[in-house]
Amino acid sequence: MRNRWLAFEPAMRGWIEDKPNYIPPVPIGDVMRGMAFGEVVESRVDGFAPGDLVTGMMGWQEYALGDGSLRKLPAGTDPRLALSVLGITGLTAYFGLLDVGQPKEGDVVVVSGAAGATGSVVGQIAKIKGCRAIGIAGGADKCRWLTEEAGFDAAIDYKSEEVGARLDALCPDGIDVFFDNVGGPILDEALARIARGARVVVCGAISAYNLKERPPGPTNYYRIVAQRARMQGFVVIDYLPRAAEAIPDLLKWVGEGKLHWKADVQQGFENAPKTLLRLYSGANFGKQLLEL
Ligand code: NAP
Repeated sequence: MRNRWLAFEPAMRGWIEDKPNYIPPVPIGDVMRGMAFGEVVESRVDGFAPGDLVTGMMGWQEYALGDGSLRKLPAGTDPRLALSVLGITGLTAYFGLLDVGQPKEGDVVVVSGAAGATGSVVGQIAKIKGCRAIGIAGGADKCRWLTEEAGFDAAIDYKSEEVGARLDALCPDGIDVFFDNVGGPILDEALARIARGARVVVCGAISAYNLKERPPGPTNYYRIVAQRARMQGFVVIDYLPRAAEAIPDLLKWVGEGKLHWKADVQQGFENAPKTLLRLYSGANFGKQLLEL
């Protein structure tokens, strides 16, 4: 395959660290692991022919060898859509919210990292399922996009507002589902306000990925006991065999204009490391991609 686009995930930071994780670290000197979108140049695998569009873990390289496990895409597929809403982050949002978070109509769903690739899809699926969606994101532009374009009911700018006070005002009866991408103090503020029977979906903790020392644990965790709540982590890899359940819904919602998405496209293979770093400063607005 010739890789044309690379997709970036915050989890990549953990993949290059020799610490216990859900996947072994990338060995020193190896090709950096990562999702890519490209086209078949030559094939000895049944069902794949030159010119076919494919996506899969092809890594940070211009050409990759693949096998039949790559996903073939219809001609004309938009790479940005294939690597975002229909890729890892869309599937993470879909299964993390619906399978782990189990939202019910009328629930209050709060999402951190809400303007990002995963969070923005979570909040919009919550709306599609009849919930109230509140997003927490950094900066006025991202918050405006959430309420004016993505249809969130409210957005909290954690960089300029007091998250706890805003949650008090927006969720007087508590939070039914908290979908956490961030961890740290934002998780703690949310835990303090969970409703009885709440589900706390632990998707990620990007605020801690670059810290040298482990941050202190959440001080409000005891609310899980008092509120008979559940806090559960998940890894999207476990759901990949079920991707065919999610893709038709996601495609339909995009087609119906119910699922808005953004891609942040950088250029040039040599900029791959810099592009990854954009995720940890919040410089990305939408799914972080690189066009080769
Ligand atoms: P993303 O949300 O598109 O980009 C990362 C965003 O994180 C940044 O734009 C920034 O948004 C926010 N951020 C960075 N540092 C932060 C900090 N210190 N405090 C608060 N927010 C911070 O990335 P994504 O790919 O969709 O990933 C989102 C989360 O989902 C990550 O935690 C990732 O690890 C997790 N994830 C988990 C799985 C799984 O299987 N469990 C799969 C995919 C992704 P602001 O500008 O709003 O700060």
